[in-house]
Amino acid sequence: MRCIPALVFFTASTIFAQTPEPGTLPEHWPTGGPQCMEMQEFYIHQYNPNFYILRQSGCTDYEKPFLYLIFGADKAMLWDTGSRNARVREAVDRLMDRWLKANSRAGIPLVVVHSHKHGDHIAGDKQFADRPDTTLVQPDVAPVKAFFGFGTWPEEIRTFDLGGRVMDIIPIPGHSDDSIALYDRRTAILLTGDTVYPGRLYVNVNDFPAFRKSLHRLASFIDGKPVAHVLGNHIEQTSTPFTDYPTGTKYQPEEHELALSAAHVFELDRVLQSMTAPKQVALRDMSIAPRTPK
Ligand SMILES: [Zn+2]
Ligand SMILES: [Zn+2]
Repeated sequence: MRCIPALVFFTASTIFAQTPEPGTLPEHWPTGGPQCMEMQEFYIHQYNPNFYILRQSGCTDYEKPFLYLIFGADKAMLWDTGSRNARVREAVDRLMDRWLKANSRAGIPLVVVHSHKHGDHIAGDKQFADRPDTTLVQPDVAPVKAFFGFGTWPEEIRTFDLGGRVMDIIPIPGHSDDSIALYDRRTAILLTGDTVYPGRLYVNVNDFPAFRKSLHRLASFIDGKPVAHVLGNHIEQTSTPFTDYPTGTKYQPEEHELALSAAHVFELDRVLQSMTAPKQVALRDMSIAPRTPK
């Protein structure tokens, strides 16, 4: 009996050490309109004081991607620079200025990385080319490998520390050969780019084996870890199960929520492992969309 208090103490402290930093997500995001003249190019949401989500307006480009800005003690990290027709540098600078004032800091270096190299996530890169105290990691396999120090790709998982904030970088080629996922240990948020999100998960039929393996590695990585949310780059799904908006839709008043969960990654892995050849599959909250190159 004497050992029980010690056991209780140990269990409580262990749980505390693993509790992710909380945050909130909006139920609905602005999409694109209906009144475009009223909309900001980027809508900014504070998940918590050190984790921000930016959504590009569908009035600027129907892709309306999500971007993420995360602060550590030593560095800030911007995940993607958005699609065409938007002043992303202006939005990021304004947000960083506010964060610096709120934290009584004079400055903080910025690292710009990408979920992958497709145009709707790198279009704003040139706006950061002359930004002081900024490192822009070029979007492609070789520079990503070099920056994070990967030896083997895509099997290895590397860490990157923003200062008291360790992120795991997981290569997940398939949608694009340079796709990565990022696991933020502080919030237990998993960023998955265009590989897992509520919408059409496009994959070139020739890259299907890589996509399948990547999902399996991602599922194995999160197995047993806390996952608060799985956050991707787009929303194309409607709030009606198995239904998506047509490609090119700007205004989506009934869109699916942004967040998926670990269960969605496990579901996707299960479905992919059972497939012997790439085929179109509609799941409740997303679809697998193989494409044959033209
Ligand atoms: Zn993409
Ligand atoms: Zn995309």
